[in-house]
Amino acid sequence: MGFVPIDRSFRTTWSIIESHEGHPVWSKNDGESGRIHGNIAGLHVESCTGCMKCVTTCPVEVFVAWISEEGDAVVDPVLDAECILCLACELVCPTEAIHIHRQPGSQDTLDSLLRGA
Ligand code: SF4
Ligand code: SF4
Repeated sequence: MGFVPIDRSFRTTWSIIESHEGHPVWSKNDGESGRIHGNIAGLHVESCTGCMKCVTTCPVEVFVAWISEEGDAVVDPVLDAECILCLACELVCPTEAIHIHRQPGSQDTLDSLLRGA
C-alpha cells in the first residue's frame, strides 16, 4: 500500500482524542485514517517511513525517533511547541507525512530558504 499524504485540513476536520508527550493526538474517527501527532508540526503516523530526514533537518530538534502503538519505527514531534515554522521538514519528507501550521511569516521563511538567503 502506498503512503497517503497528511490531511492538511486535520486541525479543523479531525478531533483531538488524547495527549502524548505534551502534544495533541488527532483522529478522523473513521477507523482507517490513522493518527496525527502534534499541533504546529502535525505528523501523520501512518504516512511516516521512519527515514529520519526530518530529524536531521529540523534546526530545533522537534522530531525524535519513536516506536508507535502499532510497533512501527516512526518519529514523534515531541518539541512541537518549539517549531520556528521554517518548513524545512515538509520539504525533505518523502511521503508528505508532515504539515506545519501556516502562520504569518512562515512562507517568507520558506522563500528565504529556497533562495539560499
Ligand atoms: S518547520 Fe522547521 S522548526 Fe518546525 S518542525 Fe519543521 S524543520 Fe523543525
Ligand atoms: S521525513 Fe517524513 S517519512 Fe521521514 S521520518 Fe520524517 S516524517 Fe517520517
